[in-house]
Order: sequence, then C-alpha cells, then structure tokens
Amino acid sequence: MSQDNLIKLECNECHRLNYHTYRNKKKVKSRLETKKHCKWCKKHTLHKETK
Ligand SMILES: [Zn+2]
Repeated sequence: MSQDNLIKLECNECHRLNYHTYRNKKKVKSRLETKKHCKWCKKHTLHKETK
C-alpha cells in the first residue's frame, strides 16, 4: 500500500493540466512547483500543484 498521493501539475501561465505525478506527503510538505515544458505555451513554464 502506498501513501503517495496523485497530484496534478498545472501550467502557471495557461492553467492547463499538463502533468500528473506522485507526492509523498510525509516527505514533501510544501506545494510542488517545478519548471516543465508546456505544449500549449510552447515553452518552459512554472507548473504548480493543483487538486
Ligand atoms: Zn501553459
């Protein structure tokens, strides 16, 4: 059994959901923020965790 939660990463510019990833709540307490390539913006943008 995994305690990891599936989270979605949303582009900070166009607010589209581009990625799904897992987060371990025990290890990571803060909201996930990562730079990823957005195919809609056609560039690397900041992606933030959303629900
Ligand atoms: Zn975007």
